[in-house]
Amino acid sequence: MELKDKVIVVTGGGRGLGRAMALELAGKGAKLALVDLNQEDLDQTVAMCADKGVEARSYQADISDEAAVEKLFGDIATDFGAINGLVNNAGITRDGLFLKVKDGKVVNKMTKDQWDLVIKVNLTGTFLCAREAAAKMIELGCQGCIINISSISRAGNMGQTNYTATKAGVAAMAVTWAKELARYGIRAAAVAPGFIGTEMVMSMKPEALEKVEAMIPAKRLGKPEEIAKTVAFIFENDYISGRCFEVDGALRL
Ligand code: NAP
Repeated sequence: MELKDKVIVVTGGGRGLGRAMALELAGKGAKLALVDLNQEDLDQTVAMCADKGVEARSYQADISDEAAVEKLFGDIATDFGAINGLVNNAGITRDGLFLKVKDGKVVNKMTKDQWDLVIKVNLTGTFLCAREAAAKMIELGCQGCIINISSISRAGNMGQTNYTATKAGVAAMAVTWAKELARYGIRAAAVAPGFIGTEMVMSMKPEALEKVEAMIPAKRLGKPEEIAKTVAFIFENDYISGRCFEVDGALRL
């Protein structure tokens, strides 16, 4: 798909990886619909995209709220008249050990709230946005592509029972949608980043971050632009569908 003048929705587009994706796609002439919770972040990213000479609009919405997501994609379709792509990028962590044991006694458990919140945003939010985006693409006669942002943690990672479940889930859903939606000219794929230098990762304790960097064969964190370029590559290559791209500096979990 040629990105020039195509309408691409990026969730979590206000900051971090989402902002880097928006800027990369804007650089290729795409029109951006940026979705996030924080209006200030959205305003900044919209202004940065506009500086690249493309149309960009902000939409403040919670991707885990079904009614809000239905309205969101209705509004985007009305504002732009087309939807050609979606990056399901918004995501959260609420890390903690599954069970914490001291002197043979269980002293802490991952709470159901920790579980529910991460499932609601990362898994249900991704499901809702993709469903509404695909429905609009079909109704508007637009061909396009849906990209889910998974994680290297999809293979399983200490302290992330909730997050790993969602990131394995979004990679698997991309395969399902690739198979179900191919007949409508809609592709789906996933990207599984390793450790990338965004706020989500930089907020880790410095000792933990040092250990992580030492473990990465590339000996550095990834750059947000490196994930953004992978997203653009998937949009641009019409024979990519149903696959998950690991971008992790050779760090395999
Ligand atoms: P980030 O800096 O925390 O950005 C995530 C964005 O999503 C924030 O702007 C956040 O809004 C927004 N968001 C959160 N919940 C939302 C909701 N319910 N509805 C709408 N927007 C919501 O994270 P990031 O590092 O850029 O990560 C982006 C994606 O990549 C995530 O899915 C993450 O799991 C994945 N990932 C990241 C890394 C990494 O190393 N950074 C590695 C692997 C995978 P607020 O600012 O209001 O909270």
